[in-house]
Amino acid sequence: MATDSRPAEAAAPRLLGVRDFSAQTLVSEELTRVREGHPFSHAYLISGAPGAGKSSLALLMARMHMCEGTSRPCGVCKSCVQLAAGTHPDLIELRVGQPIAPEELKNKPKSVIPVGDIRELRRRLALNSFEGGRRAVIIRQAEKMQEEAQNALLKTLEEPPEGSLLLLLAETPDQLLTTIRSRCRPLALNAWPDDVIRRVLSASGIGKERAAAAIDAAGGSIGRAIQLAGDEAYWARQEEITRDFFALAARSDIPAVANKYKAAAQPERLELLREVDDKLRALMLVSAGQRKDDALSAFPGEWRRMAKEGRPGVFVPLLDAVTLARVRIMNNVNWQAALEQLLLSLMEAKSQWST
Ligand SMILES: [Zn+2]
Repeated sequence: MATDSRPAEAAAPRLLGVRDFSAQTLVSEELTRVREGHPFSHAYLISGAPGAGKSSLALLMARMHMCEGTSRPCGVCKSCVQLAAGTHPDLIELRVGQPIAPEELKNKPKSVIPVGDIRELRRRLALNSFEGGRRAVIIRQAEKMQEEAQNALLKTLEEPPEGSLLLLLAETPDQLLTTIRSRCRPLALNAWPDDVIRRVLSASGIGKERAAAAIDAAGGSIGRAIQLAGDEAYWARQEEITRDFFALAARSDIPAVANKYKAAAQPERLELLREVDDKLRALMLVSAGQRKDDALSAFPGEWRRMAKEGRPGVFVPLLDAVTLARVRIMNNVNWQAALEQLLLSLMEAKSQWST
């Protein structure tokens, strides 16, 4: 079984702390500087790929900025508790599709952050904070701000309200106006080392095997790893694919499996082949000594043996078989036939490693 059945698996991921960002050098230096008693700059532009940890970093910075304790974030003061629960009235969040301005609520803009939201933000920042303390603003997908909205935000960036921390999050910061970028301190998040993700997952109550499989599938994205680790439907599907494609015992089993995926539409077929390809690559990485075999326990013994004792080259013809199946369905060759051929290749490879 690749999955642990302990209920703790579904536990909510814990908040990331300063130490979790130690492998992100620039970020870590900035957080350490603040920990030592220096204030944050007024505005930051946090950039990174999807799942790189932009939101987690922004929340950590907001907690550090607004914490009323001495070791920030203390985790126990009123501010910390409200921020962790998502109920702090002085944290203002802007995002696409969830306007905060009354007139924009009516317009329902779907793909941009409209100028009305920035005007509303400026209005709120001009008032006293609710709790009488510091405030933070998180603008997600900041590059989705309309140009007019970005120009309206410039005034806030030029004359930041006392005690306010502005955090702009972006996947493609180049799409922001130069004038916005030049007024924010850049913090770029890179891919995360496996051991750091493993530590975060472990602290969130995720079992070792599932953590290893989530790390394999997430490709350095901590957000994706956390999301996958708690996604039961994803693990059920992974188990099913492993069973269907890698546990075939006899030729006579093949038509039933092929039949099961008969109705899949083209995108689902390609996705299925990609998942089989991912699994073969995971086996090959173990074989090449680049991965531990933690994530392989869902595979039948033959495959585990192949990964441990075989050379990485034994997987190449199988990856070719997946590619061939992909080419065939792109060329509208009969899907059932292509799938049966692939299943046969996998079954024959497995049978060579049975004892
Ligand atoms: Zn606190």
